[in-house]
Amino acid sequence: MYLNNIIEAIGNTPLVKLNSVTDGIKGTILAKVEYFNPGNSVKDRMAVKMIEDAEKAGLLKPGGTIIEGTSGNTGMGLALAAIARGYKCIFVMSDKQSKEKQDILRAVGAQVVVCPVDVAPEDPRSYYSVAKRLSEETPNSFYPNQYDNMSNTAAHYEGTGPEIWKQTEGTITHLACGVGTGGTICGTAQYLKEQNPAVVAVGLDTYGSVFKKYKETGIFDENEIYPYKTEGIGEDILPKNVNFDLIDLFIKVTDQDAAVMTRRLAKEEGLFVGWSCGSAVHGALEYAREHLKEDDTMVIILPDHGTRYLGKIYNDDWMRAQGWL
Ligand code: PMP
Repeated sequence: MYLNNIIEAIGNTPLVKLNSVTDGIKGTILAKVEYFNPGNSVKDRMAVKMIEDAEKAGLLKPGGTIIEGTSGNTGMGLALAAIARGYKCIFVMSDKQSKEKQDILRAVGAQVVVCPVDVAPEDPRSYYSVAKRLSEETPNSFYPNQYDNMSNTAAHYEGTGPEIWKQTEGTITHLACGVGTGGTICGTAQYLKEQNPAVVAVGLDTYGSVFKKYKETGIFDENEIYPYKTEGIGEDILPKNVNFDLIDLFIKVTDQDAAVMTRRLAKEEGLFVGWSCGSAVHGALEYAREHLKEDDTMVIILPDHGTRYLGKIYNDDWMRAQGWL
């Protein structure tokens, strides 16, 4: 029994009960541990789907180059799929992302271009703009654009959603998930709500991001946008993959609360996960403490692995320098 290549190992990640950080909470809290994917993150799922759909649509041809703006995890998924299918990769990321993420992408053969984080998305130096420009300049290239490419949501509608429904035997009542491009929460929530419209989808946002205010008021408030440190969730744009009708509410989590919870997940649950996992669990438990009943089952999606944050939240000196220890 073997797989034909590593991308066939994507999906069917385990659902693991949280036993310690949930102290005092009614109901069952289950974590969908996405670092079991071969690229160590949830983004493997949509990366492969974007490539498959682009091939079918004739947008990606043999020997082509995939160019994408990525916080790292999408790049890893795309790089693995590119190896399996014979494409080259150029990834554009902001200088806020951890050095580990750049090194990992180079390790799997991608070219990495680093751009400044503190510029507006429409600034020609932003990683959105540079990715777009490179894709226009490079012959036989494909720009997946994970923000607006609906293959992103579709991957989770076809994979993550059905897996969770099956693993919980249809008992899931609440889904909690960080929101970046929105693909994970919206694809998963769409499938689950089709099975049971009563399923509540809780979106986890960061301070410094526009989502929560937009959901509550319909206003894109530029005052909501300021620098924050958590990687992978929150945005200063409204990606097409964020369908606000599928997300019942947003909760914002601070960088510090997220970092502290991530370290607790490692120490108390044995889940050596990434920073946005702490955001997801901290915010989800805040909601659960108030709203969950004894018979409820909440699934929290944990997007990536802790190795990518060894130099930051898992480093005591770094934590002390932030004043978080
Ligand atoms: N956490 C991490 C670490 C991520 O890389 C991402 C992807 N941006 C997310 C959460 C959010 O997932 P999505 O883009 O599907 O909303």
